[in-house]
Amino acid sequence: LNELFSSLPTTIFEVMSKLAMEHQSVNLGQGFPDAEGPESMKKIASAAMYDFHNQYPSLLGVPELRQAVAKHSEREQGIPVDWATETLVTVGATEGLASAFLGLINPGDEVIMFDPMYDSYTSMAKRSGATIKPVRLRLPDFSVPLDELAAAVGPATKMIMINTPHNPSGKVFTLPELEAIAALCIKHDLIALCDEVYEHLVFRGAKHVSLRSLPGMEERCVRLGSAGKTFSFTAWKVGWMSGPARLLNPIIKAHQFLVFTVPSSLQRAVAHGLDSEAEFYHSLGPSLEAKRQLLEAQLEGLGFELLPAHGAYFLVADVSKFLRPGEDDVGFAKRLTVEGGVTTIPISGFYVGPSPPTHLVRFCYCKEDAKLKAAGERLRAYL
Ligand code: PMP
Ligand code: GLN
Repeated sequence: LNELFSSLPTTIFEVMSKLAMEHQSVNLGQGFPDAEGPESMKKIASAAMYDFHNQYPSLLGVPELRQAVAKHSEREQGIPVDWATETLVTVGATEGLASAFLGLINPGDEVIMFDPMYDSYTSMAKRSGATIKPVRLRLPDFSVPLDELAAAVGPATKMIMINTPHNPSGKVFTLPELEAIAALCIKHDLIALCDEVYEHLVFRGAKHVSLRSLPGMEERCVRLGSAGKTFSFTAWKVGWMSGPARLLNPIIKAHQFLVFTVPSSLQRAVAHGLDSEAEFYHSLGPSLEAKRQLLEAQLEGLGFELLPAHGAYFLVADVSKFLRPGEDDVGFAKRLTVEGGVTTIPISGFYVGPSPPTHLVRFCYCKEDAKLKAAGERLRAYL
C-alpha cells in the first residue's frame, strides 16, 4: 500500500457533508452553490449528447472550449494565449492540480505554498515528491508576510503555488503582494502554479489580478480555472488550464494517463458559457457580497468575530468564545452540526505548518437567503 494514501483521512468536505445529511443540518460547510448556472449551458450539454458527441474527444479538450479559454484569458486578464498550444481541459481544477504536480515536480523539489491551503494540494504535491515549504498568511486578513516569503526561497525551490481568491479565507491577493511574488519568481527563476478557480467571485472595490498578467510572468505561470466555480456547476467537473507550452506539455502527459479526456457534451456547454454567459459570471461577485452581508449580520449579532475577505464564497469566523474546555475547531464543527443543526468546515486541517490555529471555522454562504437566515436562527437558539 502506498504510505501516504493508506494513512490519509477522508477529506473534511465529505466528512462534514455526510454528517450534515445524517443530522439534517443547514449545510454551510462544503462549497457548492444552491443557485445553478445558466439554462443555456444545460440545454447545450444535453443536446450535445443527443447530437452524438459521446465518444472520446481529443485528450487536450474540444477546440471550441480551448478557443473559449484563450479568448477568456485575453478578455478578462489581458493575457494572450495560443489556444492550440497553451490550453488544456481537465476533469475539474482538481485533476489539473494533480496533473500539474505530477508533470512539473521532481522528487526533492521545494514548493512554496501559503498556509492555510485547499486540502487537495498537500497530498498531491507530496505524492509528486515535492517538499512543501509553507508560508503562513497573517491573521486577521491573511496578508502575505513578504519577509518570510523571501526567506522561504532556497536553492531547491522550484515553484510557488498561489490561490487567489483564496480558499478557505476569501482573501484576494493585493497587487503589491502579487508584485512581490512575481519579483521573487523572476529573481530566483521559479515557476508559479496559479489556482484562480474563484477569479470571478470578487466583491465590488476589489479586483482579481492574475499573477500571469504581471510583466515577466507569462512564461512562468500556469493558471487553472473551473466551471464548478465560474458557472456554479460543481458536479460537472470541467476545468481548464493555460500556460506556456514548455510548462503545459509535461502536465498534458500526466493528464493523458490520469484521465485521458473530459466528457465532450459538458465541454461544449462550458465553451458556450465562457463565450456567451459573461453576464452570469460577472454577476456572481455582487450577489455573493450581498449574501455575505446577510450572514455577517446574523453571526455578528451572535458574537462571532469575523475575519475580513473580499471574494470567493467563504467567511472565516473566530469561534474561541464558543469552544468548550479542550475542544478544537473540529470538535466544535461536529458538535454544531449534531446539536446545533448548522454545518461549517473547521480549518485547522487546511494548515500544513506546525501549530495550526484551532479556533477558526469556515462558513460557505453561496446558499439561498432563506437557508442563511435559518442558520442564523438555529445558531441563536443553540449558542
Ligand atoms: N481549487 C480550489 C481553491 C477549490 O476551492 C476547489 C474547490 N472545489 C478546487 C480547486 C477544485 O475545483 P474543481 O471542482 O473544479 O475540481
Ligand atoms: N472546493 C469546495 C470547498 O472548498 C469543496 C470541494 C470538495 O468537496 N472537494 O468547499
